Amino acid sequence: MECGKLKGRVAIVTGGARGIGKAISERLGAEGASLAIVDIMKEAAEEAAADLRGKGMNAMAFGADVSKPKDAEATVQAVLDEMGSVDILVNNAGITRDTLMMRMSEADWDLVISINLKGTFNFTKAVMRPMMKSKYGKIVNVASVVGRMGNPGQANYAASKAGVIGLTKTAAKELAARNITVNAVAPGYIQTDMTKDLPDQAKDAFLTVTPMKRPGSPADVAGVVFFLCSHDSDYVTGQVVNIDGGLLM
Ligand code: NDP
Repeated sequence: MECGKLKGRVAIVTGGARGIGKAISERLGAEGASLAIVDIMKEAAEEAAADLRGKGMNAMAFGADVSKPKDAEATVQAVLDEMGSVDILVNNAGITRDTLMMRMSEADWDLVISINLKGTFNFTKAVMRPMMKSKYGKIVNVASVVGRMGNPGQANYAASKAGVIGLTKTAAKELAARNITVNAVAPGYIQTDMTKDLPDQAKDAFLTVTPMKRPGSPADVAGVVFFLCSHDSDYVTGQVVNIDGGLLM
């Protein structure tokens, strides 16, 4: 692995305590970034940060509910105060509440939209000012292939991720002149806690239509996110990169 491409950069990773967010934190940290690991459970963020510090990385933990604008503002301010800058934001925190639309409650609709979509808005808005001031920023939003193709039982989730893609393109256009890139990744079926309880039938259905015939790993996602956070992608903005073994072409 090439090391140090993100040396001196401070990266906020939401939902960074486990799964894809933890793998992203680990990859950005391995490339020299200082990490602000944000999670709804402060203790989980502390544990992840301690683990990364044990691997020689610089990592701090912050407890925040991404769906709350005040939490986003306070977290970004705390990162600025304690770590000196905010150069990279990865909006990764997300949840599912799956069921067919006929049975979907208003509460489950609202919850998924408020965390996956509004959470992305909240943190993006909170980092805009400091990034505009420093004329540098890399924002990567974790969407999903489901936001591009739909999926039965995931109306709330698919709508939230389609919304994240629209938000990504709009923010990219608004911030491009300030040297801030905004891109999204759209993972397919990735093995994490989020997908471990999917019925075998649903997992098989995904693999049947995935040309590479294997699920992705959190590290598969982290590698592409790293690219979008590095100088190698300086002229890439407003894009959505599928990380799905060829599922959606
Ligand atoms: P996990 O459930 O393993 O991890 C999600 C993380 O987000 C957890 O640490 C969780 O904290 C945190 N989180 C949840 N709600 C909030 C909140 N309100 N505020 C702050 N943090 C919160 O999920 P994955 O790693 O699988 O997913 C990460 C992202 O990737 C999500 O956006 C997901 O939609 C997306 N994705 C995942 C795919 C997959 O196949 N796994 C496919 C496509 C996209 P806690 O554990 O304390 O609840």
